[in-house]
Amino acid sequence: MTTKATNYLTHFRNIGIAAHIDAGKTTTTERILFFTGRNRSIGEVHDGAATMDWMEQERERGITITAAATTARWTRSGTEQEYVVNIIDTPGHVDFTIEVERSMRVLDGAVAVFDSSQGVEPQSETVWRQADRYGVPRIAFSNKMDKTGASFELVLNDIRERLGAIPAPIQYPMGEESDFKGIIDIVRMQTHTFANDLGTEIVVGEVGDIPEKFVGKVAEMRAMMIEAAAEVDEDVMMKFLEGEDPTVEELISALRKGTIAQKIFPVLCGSALKNKGVQLLLDAVIDYLPNPLEVPAIVGKVEDSEETVTFPPDPDGKLAALAFKIMADPYVGRLTFVRIYSGTMQSGSYIMNASKDKRERVGRLLKMHANSREEVTELRAGELGAVIGLRDSGTGNTLIGDGDDAVLLESIDIPEPVIKLAIEPKTKADQEKMGVGLQKLAEEDPTFRVESDQESGQTTIAGMGELHLEILVDRLRREYKVEANVGAPQVAYRETITRATDVEGKFVRQSGGRGQFGHVKIKAEPLPPGSGFVFENAVVGGTIPREYINPAQ
Ligand code: GDP
Repeated sequence: MTTKATNYLTHFRNIGIAAHIDAGKTTTTERILFFTGRNRSIGEVHDGAATMDWMEQERERGITITAAATTARWTRSGTEQEYVVNIIDTPGHVDFTIEVERSMRVLDGAVAVFDSSQGVEPQSETVWRQADRYGVPRIAFSNKMDKTGASFELVLNDIRERLGAIPAPIQYPMGEESDFKGIIDIVRMQTHTFANDLGTEIVVGEVGDIPEKFVGKVAEMRAMMIEAAAEVDEDVMMKFLEGEDPTVEELISALRKGTIAQKIFPVLCGSALKNKGVQLLLDAVIDYLPNPLEVPAIVGKVEDSEETVTFPPDPDGKLAALAFKIMADPYVGRLTFVRIYSGTMQSGSYIMNASKDKRERVGRLLKMHANSREEVTELRAGELGAVIGLRDSGTGNTLIGDGDDAVLLESIDIPEPVIKLAIEPKTKADQEKMGVGLQKLAEEDPTFRVESDQESGQTTIAGMGELHLEILVDRLRREYKVEANVGAPQVAYRETITRATDVEGKFVRQSGGRGQFGHVKIKAEPLPPGSGFVFENAVVGGTIPREYINPAQ
């Protein structure tokens, strides 16, 4: 409910950009930061400036593993309404599932980026399922429309077939591959063509400007969109049945409602690399993704009881915040990224870490922009930012007001590591330094574990995959100046199942569908009655009890 105190929240969007690695998440994020006016020049991300992907090795490897929150501002095209868009970085690599999980927890909506020449790829599916699990409304961006093999309809079909979701195309590309010249907004029936390479000059045309060859397709797509909107809105349904055209306002309102309810998924297109479609994507973030007042309020569990408390977003309410990312910062030390759900966090104040039962002092508060940091005196309900000064608070911890009754917010699922390696420093003298470094890295990343074997005195590290551990060993070298040797991976819990029996109901929610066991994602195909299920590429992470597994046949 909007009141005077919460009115500012209608102009907030806390979003993530989720994608399969290489679909174009980094490029899309960069362009968003460019168009929101905070990124001074396109491509700066690769020149070493502070941006979303600020870790050196991420750039080298071309993957995104940090999950931080960046604050941008966007004025909705055609209006003077300014919005705050907080972008929560979500990684696309499956080894960093925990990073995806923690970002899913603190965002209210997401843009799912697809490579339109590839459609829905296996990891896009993983990310999509995670978003389902956390109830995150999404819009889809069919990126790389300029690329050879690009097909908007491939993405639409894959969303329907592979993800089992209802796509609502709200755009149609004017040409594909090297013919990609513009975008038709099929809600407003306008054309958008690009007059310069930077994508800053856009020529908007009317319905009559839609080239003849696209008229038939546009009508088909529009019918698909209206049908999707009609699924969730009675007025649109009535008009649809009577063959009448709903108004633009009716359509947007129905699509918004359906998107927030996660019943339908608006699909847009563009080319982040060629600066096409990014402003329209930002407009769609405003039009269709929820503000913090439109998502279910977070629930806290009162300590030692079955009682729960709901924290609606209200800056004047009791403080309830979740720490979702710890980062070592070269300038200020430890940064704790938080989302404030309720109340207001003040710099210089004391808070309680309810998860650890520790009182902590909030030093300074920062809002992170693409190229700058802004020191603020407070963070209000619905806002995200970084806290300097918290010593003990870790990922997933609940932060509440000093003296308030202890409650624990719905937290972040932390999966068990799936791979273990033995590690030793190259020079014995580095043993202690290595211990300190590993300890610090483990504090930042709860899926990274360090153990030492009492008998052999050997240290082992455990994590979510080979790449995950490789990156941490790399960080050990860069940040703690310890060169280490690692032993061959002992795969601890990972299994690939090709056939399993007697698992219905245990693994699989619906036959022939996709199930879940702990953190194990399973794709199951039913075999003839009585003979069980075939599982393909079953394990992403986690443990499957052995009694459920039959060896491959
Ligand atoms: P991420 O792994 O999802 O963050 O993907 P990146 O943004 O790093 O992009 C992966 C590759 O795809 C890079 O080589 C980009 O230049 C390229 N790319 C991104 N967007 C587009 C696009 O719109 N068109 C084309 N042709 N290539 C793109």
